[in-house]
Amino acid sequence: MVRSPYVEVAGREGVLGIGKKYKELYILYRCIPLNETRDGRDWSLFTRMKLEPDYDVVVCGAGPAGIVAAVQAARAGARTLLVEKSGILGGTTTLAGVNFPGLFHAWGRQIIAGIGWELVERTAHEEGRPLPDFANYNGFHSRMQVLVNKAIYAGLADEMVHDSGASVLFHAMPAKVERDGEGWSLTLCLKEGLREVSAHVLIDATGDANLVHLAGLPLSRGESKQPGTLIMHAAGYVFEDLDFAVLEQAFVAAVENGEMLRSDFYAKTNPVRGFLRAKGNNAMHVIGVDGETSQSRTDAELQARRAMLRIIRFLRKQPGLEKFHIESFATECGIRETAGIYGETCITLEDYVTGRVWPDSVCHSFYPIDLHSCDGIGIDIRPLEEGVFPTIPLGALLPRDSRNLIVAGRSACGERMAQSAYRVQASCMAMGQAAGAVAALAAGQGCELREVSLSDLRELLSRHGAIVPETSHLTDEISAEVETSILRTVEV
Ligand SMILES: Cc1cc2nc3c(=O)[nH]c(=O)nc-3n(C[C@H](O)[C@H](O)[C@H](O)COP(=O)(O)OP(=O)(O)OC[C@H]3O[C@@H](n4cnc5c(N)ncnc54)[C@H](O)[C@@H]3O)c2cc1C
Repeated sequence: MVRSPYVEVAGREGVLGIGKKYKELYILYRCIPLNETRDGRDWSLFTRMKLEPDYDVVVCGAGPAGIVAAVQAARAGARTLLVEKSGILGGTTTLAGVNFPGLFHAWGRQIIAGIGWELVERTAHEEGRPLPDFANYNGFHSRMQVLVNKAIYAGLADEMVHDSGASVLFHAMPAKVERDGEGWSLTLCLKEGLREVSAHVLIDATGDANLVHLAGLPLSRGESKQPGTLIMHAAGYVFEDLDFAVLEQAFVAAVENGEMLRSDFYAKTNPVRGFLRAKGNNAMHVIGVDGETSQSRTDAELQARRAMLRIIRFLRKQPGLEKFHIESFATECGIRETAGIYGETCITLEDYVTGRVWPDSVCHSFYPIDLHSCDGIGIDIRPLEEGVFPTIPLGALLPRDSRNLIVAGRSACGERMAQSAYRVQASCMAMGQAAGAVAALAAGQGCELREVSLSDLRELLSRHGAIVPETSHLTDEISAEVETSILRTVEV
């Protein structure tokens, strides 16, 4: 039997015995093809996605960087595949519940726009949530972040990727990466087994440089890592009624007797108060974790949930907190730091805090230096000086000695302190747009990423709404020097 492309609801009317209203609904539904909803989109190509044998651009990882990279590459005309290990777009924003991306504005003006901002602004608009007053920056960065509703954000991300023409493949991970002429052969691990696809350019937006590692290139790993955090939403108490002197004392005793870990509440002073005031949202640390491998990631998830259980058991015993409970918690433990690439350019702390502009700067970044202590207690936060607008060079996204492979997001090359700032979501989105644009240009021109002219890249980015740092004040000689040194590295 050939299935009608229209929603089949015939017969229900009789069964449910619903009157006129249902009849009207029925007529409405009959007009909508099965795969086409009233938003006018034909989701069939997206939802019944067929994996093609080859693509211009394959992006692995669909966090802030990967979504934007895929949308940009596809909007620029590249046949693009976005591969994601989980079942949702958004990465840390949705999976780890960090649904407060920032910062798109610095010192009262917008410095990151384009596709990432489009997604964030559309989410706020659809939810009806007013945007912060960006003109009124007083150095308090968290007020400049945009709280996004995760449900709307994830749905809109699906729509934007769909509308761009990119294909998305969930529940898949790269298993093997091999050079194939100018491009790449990528073996993907799917639920049904291994499948090979080829691509002219690979974009590594895994946040952990997983593709770069699979391609056999070295990664930089610090001796210690910033802690992770399990985002929770706690309820069942009246904050104002709590006796914090008693609670803080109970916590000290619980840490001493091994019932709690000091890092379970991360504030340096008044840790219980800090956790309860934040209602558990981004207020605990999981120390000694990494997220680069499946094994270390497993360890992080288990440690995070053990901490959550400790917190519940401890707090429920305290006066005023008998009804304390966790209403919701993130699917994954949020990971701040894993491995970075050795790039053509390394962003130093000095570069970041002085707002260095490189000849190949492709986007801005803006955030205080924000290093969470490895022991899990407190954060080293250093606001930038007024008027500083840091930038990200293309060279920080290009792994040394690689061809047609680029990273976007938190694994870009930089010193640890600089990374602690440019790892934030708006910066990752801006890097994603630059990576998607240069990948589309390289694929379209059949050349290597480093052969793409910077002016073509800047023009494409600007056409797609991105804000590209002003570099005209840098001399032509410096630009030429940078271009030749990049090409020289590739020839090695
Ligand atoms: C607790 C916490 C609080 C934070 N607070 C803020 C904040 O206030 N504001 C802010 O802007 N930023 C904040 N950040 C930082 C920010 O969220 C991340 O650094 C940022 O999301 C990194 O983006 P990304 O795209 O590089 O990687 P991710 O967001 O990590 O996305 C990577 C994606 O790739 C997928 N993936 C990973 N490996 C593979 C693979 N091998 N194959 C296929 N898919 C893969 C993952 O599932 C994920 O979807 C915070 C981070 C944490 C953990």
